[in-house]
Amino acid sequence: MGLDGELNGRVIGAGRSRSVAVVGAGFGGVAAAVMLRRAGFRNVTVFERGERVGGVWNHNTYPGAACDVPSHLYELSFAPNPRWSRRYAPQAEIQQYLERVAAEHGVLESIRTGTEVTAARWDDESDRWLLQTSAGEHVADVLVAACGQLSIPKLPSLAGLESFDGPAFHTAEWDHEVELEGKRVAIIGSGCSAIQVAPKIQPRVAHLDVFQRSPGWTIPKLDYAYSERARRLFERFPVIQRADRAATFAFMELVTAGLTNRRWLLPAFRALGRGQISKAIGDESLRAKVTPGDEIGCKRIMLTDEWYPTLMKANVELVTDAIAELTPRGVRLRDGRERAADVLVLATGFQSHAFVAPMEIHGSGGRSLADAWTPTPRAYLGMSVPDFPNMFLLYGPNTNGGAGSVIYTIEAGVNHVIAALGELERARARRIEVRQAAAEAFDRDLRAALAPTVWHTGCTSWYVDADGNDPSQWPWLWSAYRRRTAQIDAGAYELSTAAAPVGSASSP
Ligand SMILES: Cc1cc2nc3c(=O)[nH]c(=O)nc-3n(C[C@H](O)[C@H](O)[C@H](O)COP(=O)(O)OP(=O)(O)OC[C@H]3O[C@@H](n4cnc5c(N)ncnc54)[C@H](O)[C@@H]3O)c2cc1C
Repeated sequence: MGLDGELNGRVIGAGRSRSVAVVGAGFGGVAAAVMLRRAGFRNVTVFERGERVGGVWNHNTYPGAACDVPSHLYELSFAPNPRWSRRYAPQAEIQQYLERVAAEHGVLESIRTGTEVTAARWDDESDRWLLQTSAGEHVADVLVAACGQLSIPKLPSLAGLESFDGPAFHTAEWDHEVELEGKRVAIIGSGCSAIQVAPKIQPRVAHLDVFQRSPGWTIPKLDYAYSERARRLFERFPVIQRADRAATFAFMELVTAGLTNRRWLLPAFRALGRGQISKAIGDESLRAKVTPGDEIGCKRIMLTDEWYPTLMKANVELVTDAIAELTPRGVRLRDGRERAADVLVLATGFQSHAFVAPMEIHGSGGRSLADAWTPTPRAYLGMSVPDFPNMFLLYGPNTNGGAGSVIYTIEAGVNHVIAALGELERARARRIEVRQAAAEAFDRDLRAALAPTVWHTGCTSWYVDADGNDPSQWPWLWSAYRRRTAQIDAGAYELSTAAAPVGSASSP
C-alpha cells in the first residue's frame, strides 16, 4: 500500500499516491494527465477508444476543419505555441500540437489508446471505482470523465438513408478514399462543419447541393496566415502572444455577456452578419434564404469568410426545400423532385447531450447515472453529481458557451479536480461528493440565469432539446466559471471515510 495509512480501522490513501482513471484523451484527457502530473499525482491512467490522442481533432479530418476560436486562446495555457501557421489553426496542426504536448510532458505512456471504457461502478466497500474496459478491468480511487460533448456523430433521421447507392459519410468520419473530382456532391446540413467543408470541396466537384433546414448567423472570421516574422516575434517576446490571448479572451467575454444578460449588445453582431450577407450576395432570393429569422446567437454564431462567396459559385446550389427521403440516386424533396447525387456528406452534428454515453456509470448504492440524469443531465459546476463520489466530469453538463474556448473551461475543471484531491489528502478522507442540497441550489440558480439568455428565445439548436431542457449552456462569464471552480466550497462538498463523514471541505 506504500504511503497509505489507517483511519478508524480503514485503509486510507495518503500522499499523492491516489490513482486517477481518466476516460478520453482529447484536450480534456491530455490536460488532466499533464496538470495532475504537474501537481504531483503520478498514478494517472487515461483510456482512449480512438487509436490516437486528439479527441475531436483526431476524428474530424474533413476538408477545411479548423478551430473557430483564435489559436492563441484555443491552446493550453501552460503550453503556448508561438508557431501556429494561422490565426485559426487547421485540424492537422491542432492534432499534432496535442500529441506533442502529451509527449513533451511525459504523459503519452499513461495513455492507453484503442481502449474503450464500457462501464464504471463505484464500490462502497473499497471506496474505489471499478472500470470495465475493452482490455480488461481497472481499479482507481478517482474517475474523471473527459468524453467531450461532440464525440458521437448524429445521423439525420431521414427515410431511405441506407438505400443511397454511393458513398455516404458523416463529416466526423470523412472517407478520404472517395474521389470527389467531377462528382455531384450533396451536403446535408448548413452548420459549423458544412460551412468549413463546402468552400474547400467546391472547386473540385462538378456540382454541390447544400441542403439547409434553417440558416444560422455568421460573422467574419478574419482568418490569416502568420508570417515567419510574426511567429519569431511570438517566440522571442511571449508577452505579445499573451497580450493577444488576453485581448481575445476579453472579446469573447463581451460576446458572452451579449448572449446572456447584456442582450442589448447583440444588434451590433447582427449588423456584422447582415453586412457580410449583403456584401457577398447580390441575389435577393438567395439573400432571403441565408438570412436567419431568429435572434443572433440563439444558434451557435458561425465564423466564416468563405461561406457566402461559395454559395455564389456557378456549381453550387443552396436547397431549402424540405427533404422527403433519400433514394439510391440522391435526395427526393417533398414536392417530388429528385436531386441527383454521387456522394452524400452528412454535416449533421453530434449527439451533444449524450455526454458519457454509451459508457454505463453506477455510483454509491448502485445508482445509475442514466437514471440520475433523467429527464436531463445536470451536474454541480458541470462536474459533480450527488451519489457519485470521487467522480468529476470535464466539459460536462452546462459548461458549453456561445463564445469562448472550451480549453479554458477544461483547464478550470482540472484545477477543480486537483483541489478536490487536495481536500481528500488534507482531511485524510477516502471520498468526496457533492451534497444534494448544494447541487440542487446550484441547478436552480443556473436555470434562472439561463431563462433570459438568447439561447432560450425559441430557435432550434443543439443546446436545447425538443422538451426545452438545456443541459449544454453556461449562463455566466467564463471568468466566473474559473473563479467558482478554483476551490472546493466547504458547504457544497462532503468528505468522508466510507464509515462516517470526516467533515466538510475546508473553507476557501
Ligand atoms: C470540428 C470541431 C471543431 C471545434 N472547434 C472548436 C473551437 O474552435 N473552439 C472551441 O472552444 N471548441 C471547439 N470544438 C469543441 C471541442 O469539442 C472542444 O474544444 C474540445 O476539443 C473538447 O475536448 P474533450 O477532450 O472534452 O472532448 P473530445 O475532443 O470529444 O475528446 C473526447 C475523447 O473521449 C473518447 N471517449 C469517449 N468515451 C470514451 C470511452 N467510454 N472510452 C474511451 N474513450 C472514450 C473519445 O473517443 C474522444 O477521443 C470543436 C468541436 C468540433 C467537433
